[in-house]
This record gives sequence, C-alpha cells and structure tokens, in this order.
Amino acid sequence: MSTDPSDLNMRGAGRARHRVLEALSPEKPVPGLYLVATPIGHASDITLRALGLLATADVLYCEDTRVTSKLLSLYGIRQKLEPYHEHNAARMRPKIAARLEKGEVVALVSDAGTPAISDPGFRLARDMAAAGHFVTHCPGASAALTGLLLSGLATDRFFFCGFLPPKHQARLSELETVKEVPATLIFYESPKRLAASLKDMEAVLGARPSAVARELTKKFEEVRKGTLSELAKAYEEEGAPKGEIVIVVEAPGKRAEFSKEQIRDRLSELLNEVSLKDAVAEVTRESGWKRSDVYDLALALKKNDAP
Ligand code: SAM
Repeated sequence: MSTDPSDLNMRGAGRARHRVLEALSPEKPVPGLYLVATPIGHASDITLRALGLLATADVLYCEDTRVTSKLLSLYGIRQKLEPYHEHNAARMRPKIAARLEKGEVVALVSDAGTPAISDPGFRLARDMAAAGHFVTHCPGASAALTGLLLSGLATDRFFFCGFLPPKHQARLSELETVKEVPATLIFYESPKRLAASLKDMEAVLGARPSAVARELTKKFEEVRKGTLSELAKAYEEEGAPKGEIVIVVEAPGKRAEFSKEQIRDRLSELLNEVSLKDAVAEVTRESGWKRSDVYDLALALKKNDAP
C-alpha cells in the first residue's frame, strides 16, 4: 500500500474508500508491543493505523476497560481487553512479557491521548525493549502538544513538566527546579487546583505570559491568555472551571537573567570607553532589556558622574 497521502485525492472517492477499509483491516502487524494514541476529546482524532491495530492485536491493555470499550464500540471494534494501570502495572508486566515471548501483538492504550505521557506505559515500554522485544508507537493526540500549539507561545523549544505536586510547599519546590529552563513550559493540571497552581507559578516564575487551554478538541474548547497573575486572579474569582486543563507558560525573558545591578555595572564599564549611545546599544544587545530602560539607567549614571 502506498504511503503517499496525495494518492487519496488523486484516485477518487472509490479508491479512497477502499484504502480506508484496507487500513482498518490490515494484515496482522509484526509481533511486539504497540503504544497506541487515542483521542483526547474529539472521537475522530484517531489514526487509521491505530484503529487497525486496536482491531487486530491479540490483546489490548487499557487503563479503564469501560472508557476503552466506549471508544471501540464507536468504531465497531471487538477486542479482548485487559487492565494495565498504575495499581496493577508491576504485576501485569511479566504477563505481558510472556505474551510477547509467544509472539503476540500487544497493544497498550491509556484513557485518552498518548500512553506513557503522564499515563502508564513508560516502564512497560522500557522493560520490554530492554528484554529484546519489538516496541513501537502509533502516534496521535496528546494534550500537551495541542495546548502548546494553541497557547500562542513559542513552539521552538518546550519543556513538559507533567502534573505539579498537589501540596503548596512541594509545588513551590518543584517550580523552583524549572524556573530557569529556557523553554516554554507545559503543565497538566486539575480544575480544582488551577487557581492555586497559577498563583504559585506567579510567585516562583514571575508575571510571565501564559495560557490556560481547557477542553481541547471538545465542544467547549477554550484558550485563555494572560500573565500568570491575571489568570490566577481570574480563576480565583470565578472558581474552578469544568473540564481538563493544560497550562502553558512563556520561557523566562532575557531580562530576568540580568539584574539592574549587573546592567549598571556593565554600563559604567562601557561609559568609560565609548559614547552613551554606543554603550546603550551594546548593553541592550547583550541583555535583551528594553532600550529605553537601559538608556534611563545610562543617563542616571552619567548625571551622577557629572561634576
Ligand atoms: N496521556 C495524555 C496525553 O497524552 O495528553 C495525558 C493523560 S493525563 C492523566 C490527563 C491530563 O491531560 C488532564 O488532567 C489534563 O491536564 C490533560 N488533558 C487531557 N485531555 C485534555 C483536553 N482535552 N484538554 C485539556 N487538557 C487535557
């Protein structure tokens, strides 16, 4: 089967239908462990390959059989479901290893999104690969990436922080560890802790631009943007929102890396060598501070130096 997606457009609807059916009932995949992504909201956000795997695997491990049954029934798939969640994972791993030994196709899904991303699956994938089994991923939705994309914040570098600890002090300590990370930060959070977490983020990370992305790909999808303090205040006043949430926070500004003291020292140094204009231009370039702020400091230094 061609993997060129343009084939679907080129050869007409009949051919396209044929390919969809083919993809839904593919030949048996090679034996191994398949980490299969499922929708995070919109039920159509699942790949043809994922549906094929869910239909043809020898067994499908899932977090909650009721949740996965619903998804399967939407697509008319009947499958043998076994539980794999944080409470039984250690007990299930040897059983899954035994299935892989026998040459079975084992699929793993979580309730929603990509397995192993704040969900069970990491240890299983690691251990099965280490034991020499074929392990692969059938990619699809993940709330972290959808939240990032819709946040309006830089996507060139990002750092996924997962869930913060629920307790205030532990949360502050955890935030300290990511404060200096030079990348957009992505967090998962529960609605009931949203306001408190935003407040702690503001205390540790500063008043950075950020976004709260809620109910992604669902009917009431919403992305609210503002500084951490604005968002913290809004949710404190309104109370906990409904639904699922991703918080995205801008990387630390360059400005935060240079204190006023450091800017003053560097300006004093340069003002002995070059003109005020050149010193301001140089320090603006080096620090990322606003030119007008650097200029004001340079002017004040010059005045203090004046006889
Ligand atoms: N493995 C999943 C993934 O790849 O996105 C994440 C699982 S984690 C247990 C669930 C958390 O993901 C939610 O509490 C929320 O923070 C985030 N999340 C999942 N679906 C979401 C959605 N539709 N909108 C916003 N956040 C979502």
